[in-house]
Amino acid sequence: MRVFILFIITILMGINTAFAYEIVLPKEKKTIVNTKYAFFIGKAKNSEIIEINDQKVYIAQNGAFAHSIKLKDGENRIVIRSNFNTQVYKIYRNPAIQNTKPELLEFTPQIYTVIKDNSPLRSSPVDGGMNRLSHLFEETSLLIDGEKGDFYRVFLSKNNYAWISKKHVKKSNKKIEPNFITTNTETYKNASVYSIEFTEKIPYTIEENDKELIFKTYNPFVSEESVYTLNIKKPEKYYYKINLNKGQYALKINEFPTPEQNLEGITITIDPGHGGTEKGAIGCLGDEEKKINLQIAEQLKTLLENLGANVVMTRECDAYISLDDRVKIAQDNYSDLFISIHLNSIPDIEMNVHKNKGTSVFYYNPNSKMLAKTLENSITQALNTKKAGTHSASFAVLRPTDYIGVLVEVAYMTNPLDSVLYTKEDFPSETAKAITDGILNFLNNEN
Ligand SMILES: [Zn+2]
Repeated sequence: MRVFILFIITILMGINTAFAYEIVLPKEKKTIVNTKYAFFIGKAKNSEIIEINDQKVYIAQNGAFAHSIKLKDGENRIVIRSNFNTQVYKIYRNPAIQNTKPELLEFTPQIYTVIKDNSPLRSSPVDGGMNRLSHLFEETSLLIDGEKGDFYRVFLSKNNYAWISKKHVKKSNKKIEPNFITTNTETYKNASVYSIEFTEKIPYTIEENDKELIFKTYNPFVSEESVYTLNIKKPEKYYYKINLNKGQYALKINEFPTPEQNLEGITITIDPGHGGTEKGAIGCLGDEEKKINLQIAEQLKTLLENLGANVVMTRECDAYISLDDRVKIAQDNYSDLFISIHLNSIPDIEMNVHKNKGTSVFYYNPNSKMLAKTLENSITQALNTKKAGTHSASFAVLRPTDYIGVLVEVAYMTNPLDSVLYTKEDFPSETAKAITDGILNFLNNEN
C-alpha cells in the first residue's frame, strides 16, 4: 500500500513539473509594498492556462506573461492557478507614510563656499527631476539666506533664488566683494570661446532657447541687480563645456564635426547599460537586461567601425562600471556622441504591465533632442516596436554638455509581446543596424 501511494505521488509531481509555469517576479511569496498595484511576470507553456485571482492571463508565443493586480490596504492573497499547479502569494500593502513637508526658514544673508566641483544649483529644493540650473565649481562663493529641508536657498539677484544641497557647501568667513574684470571672445574654425572674468568665483546659470545659449553670472555680493548676461547664437549641431579658472569662466561651444565620408572623424562612445552585480531589468523569461545590452553594443561597435567611426566602449565584458566612470570614459576620449543602450521595465508597480511597451529614447540637454527623435524613428521603423516617445530625463550619463548623448530603451522586458521580439536571435543585430541608420540620418539631417 505504501509503495502504491508513493508511486501516485511521483506521478503527480512528474506532471506538475512538466506543466509548471514559473513566476519570475515577485521573487518572494510574501512581500510588503506601498504601491497601488503588484505585477507578476513569468513564463509558461503556450498550452497552459493560467489564472491569477480567477482572471485568465495572456501567454505570448514564447511563453512570456505579465499581469498586474490592484492591491487593497493590508493583506492581499493572490492565487495563481494553472491546469496542474496552484501557488499562493501574500502581498501586504502598507499605504505610503505621509511625509511632512519641510518649511522655509529665512535668515540674514551669509556667505558660503561650494566644497566640490559639479555641485548642482537647482530651481527647487528637490534632489531629482529637471531642476538643475548649472553645475557649480569648487570654491564658488554663494550668498545664502534661507533653508528648506536638506537645501539652502541661494540669493542670485532681485527676486531670483536657487537651491543647493547643504552637503555641497560650507560656511565661509571670507569677506568677498568680487569685481568684474573683462570679457573676451575667441573664434576658431569649429569652435568659439567666450570668457568672463571676475576677481572671485561667483555663481552662474545656463539656459537655452531655440536659437541661443544664455549664460548668466550673478554678483549679489556687490548689488542685487548685478547680473552679467551673454547670449550666444547656437550652431545647428553643437556641444559645449564650461570651465572656471580662478574667477574666469570660459564657455567653449563646438560645432558638431562634419565627417569627410560616412562616420570618419566621429568619436562615438557606446554604453551597454548595467553589468556585473547590476543586472538591470529582469524579463518575463527570467533573462537579464545587462546581457542583451552588451550583445547589441558589440554588434553596434562593428557596424560603426566599418563606417569609419572611432568607437569607445564603456564596458566590453560583464563588469560593473559606475555611472561617473562611464561619463569619464566618454569625456577622456573626447566623444562626439554617447549612446547608452538599455531595455526597459516598469519603473514602479503602479502601472498596467500591458500598456508599457515599445521604444523610448531619453536625452537631457536640448542639443541631444534631435538625435533622440531620429533614433526613435529608425528603431521603431526597423523593429516595428511601438513609439513610446522621446523624453527628457536627468540621467547622470546624459547630463554632460560636452557630447551629444542619448539613452535608448529598445523595448520593455516586462511586456510579453516585446519579449517575443527581443528574444529573437537577430534582435541585437537588427537593433544595432537601426541605431547605425539613425546616427547616419542625424548627421544628414534626415528623420
Ligand atoms: Zn537599464
